[in-house]
This record gives sequence, structure tokens and C-alpha cells, in this order.
Amino acid sequence: MSNNEIDVASHKQKSVSENGVDVINLSSYVAGKKIESDKILEVHSPYDNRIVGTVIQANCSHVQQAIEAALSGKSFSGKTGNILTRYERYSILEKARNIFLERKEEFAQLISAESGLAIREARYETNRAQDVFLFAAIEILNDDGQIFSCDITPNGKARKIFTLREPLSLAVCITPFNHPLNQVVHKILPAIAVGTPVILKPSEKTPLSAIRLTELLYEAGLPHYMLSTLLGPTNEIAEPLVKDPRVSIVSFTGSVAVGKHIATTAGYKKVILELGGNDPLIIMEDADIERAVFLAAEGSFRNSGQRCTAVKRILVHEKIKDEFIKKFAEKAKEYKCGDPSDPETRVGTVIDEAAAIYLEKVVKKSVEQGAKVIVGGNRKGALMEPTVIIDVPRNADMVVYESFGPLAPIMSFKDIDDAIALSNSTAYGLSSGVVTKNMEYALRFVRELNVGTVNINEVPGYRIERSPFGGIKDSGLGVKEGVIEAMKCFTFVKTFSLPW
Ligand code: NAP
Repeated sequence: MSNNEIDVASHKQKSVSENGVDVINLSSYVAGKKIESDKILEVHSPYDNRIVGTVIQANCSHVQQAIEAALSGKSFSGKTGNILTRYERYSILEKARNIFLERKEEFAQLISAESGLAIREARYETNRAQDVFLFAAIEILNDDGQIFSCDITPNGKARKIFTLREPLSLAVCITPFNHPLNQVVHKILPAIAVGTPVILKPSEKTPLSAIRLTELLYEAGLPHYMLSTLLGPTNEIAEPLVKDPRVSIVSFTGSVAVGKHIATTAGYKKVILELGGNDPLIIMEDADIERAVFLAAEGSFRNSGQRCTAVKRILVHEKIKDEFIKKFAEKAKEYKCGDPSDPETRVGTVIDEAAAIYLEKVVKKSVEQGAKVIVGGNRKGALMEPTVIIDVPRNADMVVYESFGPLAPIMSFKDIDDAIALSNSTAYGLSSGVVTKNMEYALRFVRELNVGTVNINEVPGYRIERSPFGGIKDSGLGVKEGVIEAMKCFTFVKTFSLPW
């Protein structure tokens, strides 16, 4: 169920709910200061609906305070006294990383509780976040300038042109629920690494880990003007932030609908959009079947299928379809679905009951169109069983749009041309995986799939945290994230030249 507002009375740091479970009580922050407000957001577990935590919500006056605090942190009129040195930024992120390592389990528990993700997935997410800390800190130490000698043609001169990157004045970062911590670190750590102040607006469904991270960064010595974290109604927080002309970049990850809305309302500023996907795993007739089965299962069911790069369509060559389906159906049964806090659980809940009801609906609709459910298909509250569906028509909603959950729809194709056409037939273009031993096939897929990433013999979601990542078409504007690219996004390039 969605999280509700409650009255401010009895908002203490920690409390115990009616059924004896710990509740963590947090606050939005304006530049290091907890805010005062009479609006509190309750965060419920999608699994059993218990209250996991609460957050004091901000209002439009806090938006103004956060913007002013960020902009007054340093001067852009030639005075550079308050800009953090590379070493200072590195030291802050290194210290934060060390504190984070001590608190990884606390973060994992919080992620699992607020999102319903299985604890093993939440632990995996904290491992990824640890890498983001490491890569951002290391990258600060690398000089990012270029030098151009000007005497290289007959038209040249004895001069050199140099580039340097300067931080943007203020970034607004808006994140979704599906990787509550990882989405946040992938935006704010690169921004901090380059010295750009951030106002973070995390998902209201999973705000707790984001706020604990905010507190951790302050504790590690981050100057307070560098980060504000605000939760509150969209029309009071997110929309005014997106529109404000003093904000120089909006970095958004989330749904296509909201992303496109932001693109039309942000005005004259940089906009980074990382949006939805319905990534294929394409299995050719020469594939190692065991590997294909493993990748299909991991890609479809990990993180409850709620990854932008989850396998949302399994496309199998018709020659090996029957063998693949038989083995995959057996594999899918290994993905135990249930209590997210149980270490044996591999698939926790989806984000809320409404999301699970939507998944159930698209499965039923595809069955009406001729598809057949061979594993799973049942829903209990926000728990949706890992579900294998065969004979899915190419025009079923489940495969044309994004189905954000543990569904594995299987379709067959007759040859590589058909596979490429089918893969490219939707509005999305985020990532893809291909299982083949044939180099000619591999190269054709790399060239002809209209997506941001092609992973051969891997899941579409494979990446390291510093490699470029991002989609095209409705999945994004083709601007990449990943630590290194994100750091570039939060800067502008200044050039200067000298006689040489
Ligand atoms: P969402 O509904 O679009 O929400 C994302 C964020 O936008 C939330 O913080 C939300 O705030 C905020 N928001 C809502 N309306 C807004 C508005 N009018 N202006 C500004 N911000 C607004 O997405 P979601 O359901 O949380 O996340 C799932 C989606 O994210 C999926 O489509 C998934 O594919 C996509 N995703 C993409 C990537 C990628 O890298 N391409 C990665 C992960 C997820 P509230 O929570 O307060 O509503």
C-alpha cells in the first residue's frame, strides 16, 4: 500500500510500533538542518504493512531555503575560496565510504524493510553502493582537463588551448523506488565529487535509506550547503525545483511519463533522463542453453524484476524453444518468493499492492490473447510469484510496455533478422542481452539493436558502476550515467588559451 501522511504528534528519533517493531523516525534536511513541519510521511513495509519509519515532510518554503543555502555556499563571481579542493572532496567521500562499510547491514535492513526487496538483494545493493563510493573518490584524483596544441596546421598559431571542468551551481536529483540507495548514490556522489551542490528528492515510497545516507555524508564532513534532502508533495517540492531557473541541472531517473513531463517543464537548463525499459534477452539457436536459462532467470526475477534493465522479454530461436522452456520452467521454481527478511527468499514483494495487481492484470490479459502461464501467476498482497508465460503474442501489453515485476514472457523468432526486428519493435531502447557463441551474430546485434547497451552472454543489466550507462528512444536522451559520465554531467567545460 502507499505511504500516508500522519499528524506530527509524538515524532521521536526512534519509537516502537503497536506490534513491538522498531520504527525509525527521520526528517527532511535543508543544508544539514532538520526541518520543522507538521506533516509526516509514514513508510510502510509492502510485505506486512507495518510502519517501518516516518519522515518529516518539507514544504515550498523549505525549497526556497534549500536553493538559497546551496547557492550561498560558494561564489561564482570569481571568488573561489569556498570551493572544495579535490583532496577535500576525496577525503569526504573516503571517510563516508568507511562509515558506510561499518553500516552496510543497517542500510541493507532498511532497504529491505522499506521496499519489500529480499534481504539478499538489499545486501547486493549495498555492495554496489560501496563501489560507487570507491569509484567516485578515485575519479576525483584524476585530472579531467585536455590540452590542444594550436600549431598543428598551416593556419595554426603558437598557442595552446586548455580545458578544465567547473562545477554547476546547483543540481536537483530525483530518484525512483526500485534501487532505493543505489539510484541515490549514482547521482549525489558524482555531484559531490565535482563540487556541485545537490538538492535530492528521493522516492516517497523508499525515502529512509536516502535520508540515512544524507546524515552519513554530513557526518563524514560534507559541508552542509552541498546537500539538502527534501520529501513532500510533488506540487510543493519536485515541480518547483524542476522549474526553478536558479537550478542548473535536473538529473532524473524514473518513469517515462514523469521524465517526459520534466522535459517539458524544466526550461533552460541541463536535463538528464534515465527512464523505463523492456529489455530483451535474445537466445540464438547456438546458445549454451544452461547459460541462457541462468541469465533468463537472474534477469527476470532478481530485485523482484524491478530493475530498469531487468529482462522483460525472453526471445528464443524457434529451433530450441521447447528445450529452453522446459529447463527454464524448472529453474524458475528455484526462485522462492516470500518474506523479504528471510535469507532464503530470492524474490520479495514488488513496491506495493497496486503494482502487483497491475502485473496480475497484464498476465490475465495476455492469457485472454492466447498466452499460457506455466509457472507462478499468483499474487498475495504485494507478493507476485515469479511467473513464466509462453506463447505471448507480440502485441501483448506485457511486452509492448514495461512490466515492472518478476514476469518472464517468452516469445520465439525464426532467424536473426526477425530477432532484431522484434527486439527493436517497442518504444524503449535501454539495454539488451544476447546469448550466442557466433561472433557474426554478436557483431550484428551490437550494430543493429537500437539500445544503449548490448551485453553478449550476459544479462542486459550487467555493468560496473563507473562504466557508461543509459538508454535511447523512450528510455532516455542518450546521455550516459555511471560515475565517470555523471561527473561530467554535473560540470561545464571551460576552455582557456595561452601563448605557447
Ligand atoms: P516515477 O513514478 O517516475 O517516480 C520517480 C521520482 O519522480 C519519484 O521521486 C517521484 O516522486 C518523482 N516525481 C513524480 N512526479 C513528479 C513530477 N511531476 N515532477 C518531478 N518529479 C516527480 O518512477 P518510479 O515508479 O519511482 O520508478 C520506476 C521507474 O523508474 C520504472 O519505469 C523504471 O524503469 C525507471 N527506472 C529507470 C532507470 C534507468 O536508469 N533508466 C533506473 C531505475 C528505474 P514521488 O515518489 O514523490 O512520487
